[in-house]
Amino acid sequence: MLAWIWVLPGVAARTRTALAPMKKACGDGIVLKLSAGSATQGSLLLAEISGVQANREMVAEWDGRSMPLWREETASTTLHSLLGVDLEKPAGAYEWKISWTGSDGKPMVCTQAITVRTGKFPTERLTVEKQFVQPDPEQQKRAEEDQKKMKAIYDTVTPEVLWKGKFLVPLKGVTTGGNFGRRRVLNGEARSPHAGVDFPAVAGTPVYAAQAGKVVLAENLYYSGNTVVIDHGFGIYTLYAHLSEIGVHAGDSVDVSEEIGKVGATGRVTGPHLHWGLTIDHARVNALQIVQHQP
Ligand SMILES: [Zn+2]
Repeated sequence: MLAWIWVLPGVAARTRTALAPMKKACGDGIVLKLSAGSATQGSLLLAEISGVQANREMVAEWDGRSMPLWREETASTTLHSLLGVDLEKPAGAYEWKISWTGSDGKPMVCTQAITVRTGKFPTERLTVEKQFVQPDPEQQKRAEEDQKKMKAIYDTVTPEVLWKGKFLVPLKGVTTGGNFGRRRVLNGEARSPHAGVDFPAVAGTPVYAAQAGKVVLAENLYYSGNTVVIDHGFGIYTLYAHLSEIGVHAGDSVDVSEEIGKVGATGRVTGPHLHWGLTIDHARVNALQIVQHQP
């Protein structure tokens, strides 16, 4: 009983510190803010740099990768960024670094360590017929071509904020979904983890754009079936898979809540549902996070 009393407050305090927003004065009037000092695999952090004069060039890097920064208004002295933590990023300490030329002309650097913690994802072990684990050479080729296409999309960073306001769950009246990060072992072989959020829904249910953006893919892919990918700018993409119908074309601009297709069971699925993915600079993040943590 005593141990309980002694241990519990300690645990609570530690959790609170890790999840609390953090702030760091970097000198030269620059202040760095993060929505938390640590993050679990598959989550995102909001970063803010304040005290930045309009003519000052700032460079931000998250784990060595350059991250886009944006101002909400041209006259604002605050820059924003969104850091995605891939669902398979190994746990450990990573650096968020900003650099700029100081008011005295000297190069300035400010860093902050961010701890990535292992996410708690269930593992599903299934025994299925061989053909479902090993596609034939033609199917394999198709899947690889799809993968190349997706990589080319995610390699492109549109230097513009295309979204406006809150990101929304792409189905009406739905607030939560499941399966994100689930590890799958098929016939004893580890497969890539489930990178999206699944929403069970009746086939034909309308699917809406989570935010405004540009449709960069609207076609049938081998695993994800009828798929739509929307570019929201600054390396932020949402993906909608297994649709029965696609209602948009690549190149279309869509508004938030605009219908883009209908729920279906195309591709490799066991039943109708919407698979919703979020990618931020290649990091596969739980899409529900962008609804909860508004960029
Ligand atoms: Zn799914």
